[in-house]
Amino acid sequence: MSSDQLNLFNLDEPSLSPGINDLIPTDVKIPIPAGTYPSMVELAQHCNQCHRCGLGDSRTHAVVGRGNLNAKIMIVGEAPGQNEDETGLPFVGRSGQLLDKILESVRLDTEKDVYICNIIKCRPPNNRVPSAKETAACKPYIFEQIRLVNPKIILLTGATAVKGLIGDKGSMTSIRGQWIEWEGRLCMPIFHPSYLLRNPSRERGAPKWQMWQDIQAVRAKYDEIRLE
Ligand code: SF4
Repeated sequence: MSSDQLNLFNLDEPSLSPGINDLIPTDVKIPIPAGTYPSMVELAQHCNQCHRCGLGDSRTHAVVGRGNLNAKIMIVGEAPGQNEDETGLPFVGRSGQLLDKILESVRLDTEKDVYICNIIKCRPPNNRVPSAKETAACKPYIFEQIRLVNPKIILLTGATAVKGLIGDKGSMTSIRGQWIEWEGRLCMPIFHPSYLLRNPSRERGAPKWQMWQDIQAVRAKYDEIRLE
């Protein structure tokens, strides 16, 4: 039995497709070309072995995504927190519960209608904002996820997600709820659920009220796209 075959029996260490591990460049300046990953499985395996930035040294799990791999709506957050790092799933803490409720309010199913992921796959220590260098190092993975899922709509939750994917477009209060065309897709910046948890007022004009307007616009656009 070759050592490659023997690796298949190790349940703790996911086996990588032959040759894929050799492709992870640790130097951020070396790109990971589009089309590197045949599926999200290989991409997830790669992220769990990745050390393109220092965040790979302290992670428990790389957090890649959850939901429908063929969803028309992709939701992109900032970076994993403690719950996500422990479980390997994005948006599973209080913010995630609120996000699920927001989606349910317009009859969007987290398993069927959306795919949820983050700009950064590994948890920054003490939940600090990821640096520009870390974002650049991780960017090829989100590009590949977008290519694989091929969503028509991308919801960017919070300023780091907006900046990390489509660049600085202004303050969140000025751009939230706006449709921004990017690479043939419709992106909408929305408030991060953790911001809504810190601002619980439902009064007209408050962040929660604004989110309600935004998610209804998303639902309307989703229905429009599905009819096309
Ligand atoms: S955050 Fe991204 S680039 Fe950095 S180690 Fe994790 S997967 Fe690699």
